[in-house]
Amino acid sequence: MNLKPVQVMVVTPHPDDAEYGVAGTVARWISDGKEVIYVVCTNGDKGTGDANMNPEELVRIREKEQMAAARSLGVREVIFLRHPDQGLEDTPEFRKELVRLIRMYRPETMVTADPYRRYRWHRDHRITGQVTLDAVFPYARDHLSYPDLIKEGLHPHKVREILLWASEDVNYRSDITATFHLKLAALRCHKSQVGHIPTQELEERLRQRQKIMAEGEDFHLAEAFHRVEMR
Ligand SMILES: [Zn+2]
Repeated sequence: MNLKPVQVMVVTPHPDDAEYGVAGTVARWISDGKEVIYVVCTNGDKGTGDANMNPEELVRIREKEQMAAARSLGVREVIFLRHPDQGLEDTPEFRKELVRLIRMYRPETMVTADPYRRYRWHRDHRITGQVTLDAVFPYARDHLSYPDLIKEGLHPHKVREILLWASEDVNYRSDITATFHLKLAALRCHKSQVGHIPTQELEERLRQRQKIMAEGEDFHLAEAFHRVEMR
């Protein structure tokens, strides 16, 4: 497999979660010359309060919105796995899909949702985080997992670090003061999700959220993560 590696792979449960979770940091990485890819696990076809919206139409809209958001940030590629929204399961097939992508794109850093957030947490977020962690370690790393992938030229790969957004156990705050406007612009691309919120209000809400995440730091706005170093 002769594919140019990326430095960062973001695995997001639904279209728009990556923008809430990590888009400011993605914008900073890209301005530092890193290549970033998005993997969107579900098709987002339950994400509407509009009783007249048809689910197939919603999938098309949300993929377009996700592409626009990714393009605005400079993300190299977006891969849609199109699992059903609210229907993601921790299956060997889903895990293998992620292992295949990790071995193809060989990222140093993986970013996803923290699966260990307690009580009130979207099932798709919990499963995306859990299966991503499993795919990184041990499955993508070990020679004897998926020998059929090795035959395809997809050799084991060791990810260096994992960043988990929406964590209750934050140990890393990333400075997004300079890229906040890009995060906001990317989030605004998800019109089906945030289009009903007045422009000024969305900006204020997001600014307040990122300000709280920067508490205790000498910068103003942050995205907060639990960071796991893989050694
Ligand atoms: Zn979500």
